[in-house]
Amino acid sequence: MVLFTRDLRVHDHPALAAAAGEAEYVVPLFVFDDAILGSDFARPNRLSFLLDSLVELDSSLRRLGAALVVRRGDVVDQALAVATEAGAGAIHLSSDVSAYARRREARLAGACSTARIELRSHPGVTVVGAGEVTPGDGDHFKVFTPYYRRWREHPLRPVADTPGRLALPDETATGALPERRALICDPCSPALAPGGETEGRRRAGAWLAGGGGSGVDRYHDANDDLAGDATSRFSPYLHFGCLSPRALVGDVGTGAGADAFVRQLCWRDFHHQVLAARPGLPRQDYHTRDDRWRRDDDDLAAWKAGRTGYPLVDAGMRQLAAEGWMHNRARLVTASFLTKDLYLDWRLGAAHFWDLLVDGDLANNAGNWQWVAGTGNDTRPHRVFNPLRQADRFDPEGAYVRRYVPELAAVEALGGGAVHQPWKLPAEVRSTLDYPEPMVGHDEAAAAFRAARDLGSSKSRTGSSPKRRKQAAGEGQQRLV
Ligand SMILES: Cc1cc2nc3c(=O)[nH]c(=O)nc-3n(C[C@H](O)[C@H](O)[C@H](O)COP(=O)(O)OP(=O)(O)OC[C@H]3O[C@@H](n4cnc5c(N)ncnc54)[C@H](O)[C@@H]3O)c2cc1C
Repeated sequence: MVLFTRDLRVHDHPALAAAAGEAEYVVPLFVFDDAILGSDFARPNRLSFLLDSLVELDSSLRRLGAALVVRRGDVVDQALAVATEAGAGAIHLSSDVSAYARRREARLAGACSTARIELRSHPGVTVVGAGEVTPGDGDHFKVFTPYYRRWREHPLRPVADTPGRLALPDETATGALPERRALICDPCSPALAPGGETEGRRRAGAWLAGGGGSGVDRYHDANDDLAGDATSRFSPYLHFGCLSPRALVGDVGTGAGADAFVRQLCWRDFHHQVLAARPGLPRQDYHTRDDRWRRDDDDLAAWKAGRTGYPLVDAGMRQLAAEGWMHNRARLVTASFLTKDLYLDWRLGAAHFWDLLVDGDLANNAGNWQWVAGTGNDTRPHRVFNPLRQADRFDPEGAYVRRYVPELAAVEALGGGAVHQPWKLPAEVRSTLDYPEPMVGHDEAAAAFRAARDLGSSKSRTGSSPKRRKQAAGEGQQRLV
């Protein structure tokens, strides 16, 4: 039996390849795990992508001669019941790093041992497994660059062959995937990407082929160009395993674009090995900075709604709502704004991203939020992203902002970059825009953040009334130009 979790593909699937190579019959099982369905994982965007991916997986398995067996309930109970019924000698699965995944594997190991079924865990979720490369003085790398050096030198496992043919035991009932409306009650983001291995591989084929200055060929130069949208957008396909990160490293070829892309896959592995070593990462500071975060529901609500008054921040938040995905540069800017300009707890931001991101991934979301908040693995933990400077560098014509913030779309007539500082527009134009004043002045907010960090207290923040913030915005605007 192969227990699928978030490795929803048939290509380069070491667990599936091992089972197919060893046994005459293979039971490919997916369990809708009540513990996960009842948790905050179960958000519409990810459930939709998951369902697409399972439909695809079932079709691929049928093409190979088998089918996806589907159950619902406790994952260990269901896996054992199906394995016992089918007379399986072994259960194969892809090993994973979260606290939940590890508990699941440990429980499965206990149940398998009682039932005298072998449990075999395989690589596949990352390029290099967590713990495969370690520093001399610990169980994981705390800093990216030395990890990257070792990771690049590490020999990679061979890419697993897709099984030529699979056979399901006759007596195994396949069960059925749930109806979409029974699984997903709330609306998804309107421009959500479709899930599935076929779609992922189609996109990967086109992007990796590059040529003519597109795809991976452009990646090195254009990955930060917000309007250019020149990153791969593979993240949900990687999260659900529709694409194999190991196979991508093999297929990407050489050159500056390929190197830069592989480096990003290494960041993914980096955060996975941190989560494996620190399972509390999604909740606990990796490095405490003694922050006494402000609490302000109105500020949080304005950030979530994309109504901060900083067009670049707001464009990122609107992209997240519209697509269930956000460009990496915008993730950095919006997360820095929440944690440093507003000095609100990174966990609040991570929870909102988690609600909407189709690629929402415990290791990457928590690892990156902590990196930006300065409680994680950044070697410059107190850096503050200036939204105006970021706009100047990465959206100089304002095309990204106009794409996602319709209230500002008309500003184009006045010239590209003007859209980033609507407060400077002529009063007669400004008054026609339904767009808020900046909620804080960036310079003042950044200074207050640094003071709070250096003093280990947030005293300078406690008097942050709307009036003070408006005054600050006025001062900040002068200095930010
Ligand atoms: C605050 C914040 C939260 C984030 N939350 C998530 C998340 O929940 N899930 C997620 O997959 N990524 C997350 N990221 C990382 C990154 O933003 C996305 O992986 C990337 O934007 C996805 O777009 P892409 O596939 O086009 O990336 P590309 O630039 O094409 O990169 C290729 C792949 O490399 C990996 N990758 C790229 N950047 C990073 C990174 N900084 N850390 C880890 N892996 C990376 C992703 O798997 C990505 O698909 C977060 C970043 C920030 C700053």
